[in-house]
Amino acid sequence: MKYHIIIFGCQMNISDAERVASVLETMKYKEAKNINEADIIAIVMCSVRQSAVDRIFGLIEKLKKLDKKPTTVLTGCILKKDRKKFIEKFDYVLDIKDIKKMPQILKPTSYKVSDGTHCKIDNYLDIAPKYSSKFSANVPIMTGCNNFCSYCVVPYSRQREISRPAEEIISEIKKLVRKGYKEIWLLGQNVNSYKNGKINFPKLLKMANNIPGNFWIRFTSSHPKDFNNEVINTMAIGEKITPYLNLPIQSGDDKILKAMNRHYTVKDYKNKIKALRKKIPDICLSTDIIVGFPGETKKQFENTAKLFRDIKYDMAYINKYSARAETAASKLKDNVSIIEKKRREKLLTKILKQTALEKNKKIIGKTVEVLVDSKKDKRLFGRTKEYKNIEFNSDKNLIGKFIKLKVIDATPWKIKGKL
Ligand code: SAH
Ligand code: SF4
Repeated sequence: MKYHIIIFGCQMNISDAERVASVLETMKYKEAKNINEADIIAIVMCSVRQSAVDRIFGLIEKLKKLDKKPTTVLTGCILKKDRKKFIEKFDYVLDIKDIKKMPQILKPTSYKVSDGTHCKIDNYLDIAPKYSSKFSANVPIMTGCNNFCSYCVVPYSRQREISRPAEEIISEIKKLVRKGYKEIWLLGQNVNSYKNGKINFPKLLKMANNIPGNFWIRFTSSHPKDFNNEVINTMAIGEKITPYLNLPIQSGDDKILKAMNRHYTVKDYKNKIKALRKKIPDICLSTDIIVGFPGETKKQFENTAKLFRDIKYDMAYINKYSARAETAASKLKDNVSIIEKKRREKLLTKILKQTALEKNKKIIGKTVEVLVDSKKDKRLFGRTKEYKNIEFNSDKNLIGKFIKLKVIDATPWKIKGKL
């Protein structure tokens, strides 16, 4: 019996899929080479944007056409409202926290499973995952969210925060390092609110940094309200903690930030960036933005554009607002037209392109540390310690290895290196 997994969404979903694979393998399923071979298909879905939910409906049509008529299991980040619709379309709709129960649930019985209402908050994160990479591993440290940003479904789809025990996380990282893993991603919806007894996020970072071995530590996502000097200092002294930070600001306008329920001002954010750049001058910085939040005027958007020019990000994930069921903002009128949202997205991308290029050009001539992750013929690709995309030529198979490259050229989204 064979399984196939389809993943939508963020790194946390990739990590969840690695746990789904692991549970299926304990049930003696083997990984299928392709979707047509599968007896069971698990879909790890994302509900953050409506477009991601719409893709599930598209997928249903594709699954119907498969010859083998596989068993279908929908899991991941699912909204209660959508669950009712999905129950009719999939054999099983399962809360991600319930995946440990798959062996009991998937026995041939006549009932369909879990409407999610009575799912207990179980630590499914202690399932040993089937890592999808041999050198880069996702290690969730917490899941869920208590912040209730007014536009976001995560507190509803993943429910409240739970932090994984620190010793469990550290022992997982130690095992990975012993196996030769070079990159460890600590994941959570808001890693900065990690709390396990007396261990907070900076303490956990320090513990991870103290594990002997040659590896890098990355983490995502950080909420600006909880990102503090203790984290900055830990990043500055932890030699394994990479000089890269994704700090989602969402908007450069205080009124919109308030309506988003973000609990910081543009000034607070800028002060944190200033403190960070003082300690780590070469930090590579990215952010998340929502354009066209309900009621966002052209003037308010201009404040975001100004912030982009001031901060000079290396990268940004720019999202067009879409109303999500159950959230507070869904009750507001989605009054910025799609054309205007696209215009705002385009304008921010234009600024970003300039700042990213400017910053990438500054590294030309320098030597950078790189973890090689893929290749196409003689072209090899990787990420620098700062998380910049880099390409170089070589005959050797260097995938999964640390190397040093001299930077010889730069574009906004990629730099070119030479061995
Ligand atoms: N925990 C992170 C974000 C997780 S969701 C934080 O606090 O910043 C990932 C990104 O999706 C968000 O940063 C946001 O930019 C985007 N997003 C979330 N809900 C959205 C919505 N309703 N419309 C458009 N983009 C959204
Ligand atoms: Fe969503 Fe806000 Fe939680 Fe991030 S912090 S997951 S944006 S509710």
